[in-house]
Amino acid sequence: MKIIIHGGFFSESDQSHEVKIAKQESLKNIAKKAFDFLQTHSAFDTAAFAVSLLEDDELYNAGIGSQIQSDGIIRMSAAIMDGETQKMSGVINIQDVKNPVFVAKALMKEDDRVLGGNGAKEYATTHGFENFSTEIPKRRKEYEKKLHNGGKGTVGCVAFDKNGNLAVATSTGGKGFEIPGRISDSATVAGNYANSFCAVSCTGVGEDIVSNATATKIVTRVTDGMSLQEAFDKTFDELKAIDGFAGAIAIDYNGNLYHKDSYPTMVFASFDGENLETFH
Ligand code: ASP
Repeated sequence: MKIIIHGGFFSESDQSHEVKIAKQESLKNIAKKAFDFLQTHSAFDTAAFAVSLLEDDELYNAGIGSQIQSDGIIRMSAAIMDGETQKMSGVINIQDVKNPVFVAKALMKEDDRVLGGNGAKEYATTHGFENFSTEIPKRRKEYEKKLHNGGKGTVGCVAFDKNGNLAVATSTGGKGFEIPGRISDSATVAGNYANSFCAVSCTGVGEDIVSNATATKIVTRVTDGMSLQEAFDKTFDELKAIDGFAGAIAIDYNGNLYHKDSYPTMVFASFDGENLETFH
């Protein structure tokens, strides 16, 4: 059983030492809580649970603390994919729900599994998700000052359970100040992808991740026989060729953990019951 989570990027230039320590502590706590949960739950349930804890922490740009689009409205996106069934479900640009990842998870039982905008919100309302504003004063101030924070703080989790199944979930508040309705990579197969060989969650510039098909490429390469390192290196080389910017976390079918990023540092933590690793 293993867990790896990320909370987007950390850049020394726009965040303080205190924020760095707070993110390290938060990620370590959430990785431990998710690992405990994994003892009695599937990888699928655990990926959603871990991402909901990250959404609830306003340090990250997902759920509470999401960034605001250029028209002053928060629109969030999240997806979940079960490596065992190879099914993905998600919400794109949903407003006013506390945990977009739980709406994405609820959609897994539907024939129509990825909903956008008003349809996603309507589905959430009729399925018992309360109206909830995820705006925090810090984000409104950034928005009013037109401070561009570059979307750093998307969250994700990859889990590997006792039956050897993999799952991934990813959630984001987007780039901030984007054209209303812009679609992030997080609820696409470029940003969030899994099968029985490998599961990957990405963060970074959504447009680059979609152009590079980052998560799908890594998973496909591992499926076709590459190691995680080979699959990451090749995919990140291709990203470099388009001047792209991304980070990703993964676990393969043997329970190997992996993470890689373009500069600056992606904030992450992993836990296997013994080793608790985090970013520096
Ligand atoms: N990938 C997210 C997006 O482009 C942002 C991020 O990961 O920081 O919406």
